[in-house]
Amino acid sequence: MKRTLLIATGNPGKLASLRRLLEDLPLRLAGLDAVPHVRTVAETGATFERNAVLKACGYAQQSGLLTLADDSGLEVKALGGAPGVYSARYGGPGLRDADRCALLLRHLRAIGSREREAQFVCVVAVAWPDGRRRAFRGVCAGRIAYAARGTHGFGYDPIFVPAGSDRTYAEVEARAKDRVSHRAQAMQAARRFLLALVSPDSSPERRLP
Ligand code: IMP
Repeated sequence: MKRTLLIATGNPGKLASLRRLLEDLPLRLAGLDAVPHVRTVAETGATFERNAVLKACGYAQQSGLLTLADDSGLEVKALGGAPGVYSARYGGPGLRDADRCALLLRHLRAIGSREREAQFVCVVAVAWPDGRRRAFRGVCAGRIAYAARGTHGFGYDPIFVPAGSDRTYAEVEARAKDRVSHRAQAMQAARRFLLALVSPDSSPERRLP
């Protein structure tokens, strides 16, 4: 029987992206809806690493399942790295993704910045119920567009142009984004780690508990 991996995110866009990146592994993937009794783990850390580990360990301990969680966000150079770990909360509660993109573009205009450099960062943490964990980091460099473009994806996709491209993340299909994204890079490392854990010829101490 396949072992269950809990994917601990309440964000449907991220859940879909993580499922696509893990779908071929010999693991049964479950979302947070499969464990309705668990309490939400607050993202109180000041770094992506801290928040990813907090979430993975918190949900693993409560659910008793091997758990994968990520923390991610957009760092804009001219804004001193903001919104960073506050990407999901940028501008306060009640805003939609499109409002947050518009707000970020307004902030850049307000400071008169022609400096558009930015990067998406993602840290994926894998944790066991007993507290053991590993973390993997991925970064995608790029720039902020002058206006929102495209309808795919979520979050800041319509205003982020990855290096080497002239299209925003929201102008490309999900699978094309998955090849270069910050989440894909962190997940590639996490996938290699998970594959070694579940493969039948891995050493006994590396096997899943
Ligand atoms: P968290 O990782 O749940 O704290 O949320 C990260 C936030 O960063 C999301 O709600 C988005 O606003 C933003 N974000 C992270 N990854 C992406 C991405 O791939 N595309 C667009 N926005 C993203």
